[in-house]
Amino acid sequence: MKKKYMFTPGPTMIPSEVLLAEAAPMIHHRTPQFAHIMGEVVDGLKKLFGTKEDVYLIMGTGTAAMEAAVANICSPGDKAVCAAGGKFGERWAELAEVYGCNAVQIEVEWGNSLTVGQAEAALKDHPDARALYITHSETSTGALTDVEAIAQLTRQSRTLLVVDAITGIGIHPFKMDDWGVDVVVSGSQKGCMVPPGLAFIAVSARAWEIVEACTSARYYLDLRALRKSWENKTTPFTTAVSLTRALHKSLQMIFEEGLDQVHARHARLAGAARAAVRAMGLELLPRNPANGLTAAYGPQGMDTGDLIELMRDKYGVTMAGGQGGLKGKIFRIGHMGHLSEEDLLVGIETLEKALKDLGYDFPLGAGLRAAREALA
Ligand SMILES: *Cc1c(COP(=O)(O)O)cnc(C)c1O
Repeated sequence: MKKKYMFTPGPTMIPSEVLLAEAAPMIHHRTPQFAHIMGEVVDGLKKLFGTKEDVYLIMGTGTAAMEAAVANICSPGDKAVCAAGGKFGERWAELAEVYGCNAVQIEVEWGNSLTVGQAEAALKDHPDARALYITHSETSTGALTDVEAIAQLTRQSRTLLVVDAITGIGIHPFKMDDWGVDVVVSGSQKGCMVPPGLAFIAVSARAWEIVEACTSARYYLDLRALRKSWENKTTPFTTAVSLTRALHKSLQMIFEEGLDQVHARHARLAGAARAAVRAMGLELLPRNPANGLTAAYGPQGMDTGDLIELMRDKYGVTMAGGQGGLKGKIFRIGHMGHLSEEDLLVGIETLEKALKDLGYDFPLGAGLRAAREALA
């Protein structure tokens, strides 16, 4: 028997309670019974986002909410300043271009995080920008951005702040209202412990004014339609009933553990993973690492694609490799969502075995020891 583990930065492992909730017989989405579930889901998401605004469900993966955050905010010709720094940061600029916007990229080296200074300079150079698009936790590099500090700049300007918090929400504390963030997007398959297929979006009062005036073409992703339907506690199109019930269950589990405790657990797991990687003599990629995943360079001369394949096929443990220019160079240990300290040790142990199998010379057990010490 080979027990399978996922240490991937999305999709992530799903608790069996959530899988069972998803497997329940179908109910119709336009019933009081389902509206009650939706109401509780929206209330739960509001706590995760740190907002009094409603959080809307979009039936699609995280990118659908990203697209909604462009299609409803930027009109053709509008200037959208996008912080690069990874595959997902670059996606903001790609989307803005598709919608006929003037996408201006802030160059951020992969592994670095957008700095307050860079954001300040961009806002000064582009006072006419409709929005600044940033990534809370850049999953392709494991780098974390200080959203609160950047929001302090945008809230004093006419430029909206739009944040991809897809691997931030449920992992790091997020305070949309207190920080003054205008649009926040997230998705189901990362910290929320639900299969892929749901995306979430919340919009500030001042951003709603822009949404209303926006001239970009949109139909399925029209936030005005979502808002109008939600007045009747429903969605404009068929709701993904089973996924929503899965999310209902996972939110219950998050609040049973306590949101602060969930954040603290992720911080502990991240601390242990970083300590383990360093103790194996390997180098972390991000300077300011996020708590949902640990991205590190493989040993000199090793294709990390081989490492990932070996872990998966020989040991049943799935981690992620690098994307774009980092393909073959880095590996990424996802430790977000339904993951205990004991689970993480399984991942570290497997990583050590696979590194040894591939001929990397290091003191076997060093990573495991460092992780245990960090957790103690
Ligand atoms: C997973 C992820 C996305 C969304 O990707 P989908 O494949 O559409 O779910 C976007 N941004 C970040 C930072 C992510 O981690």
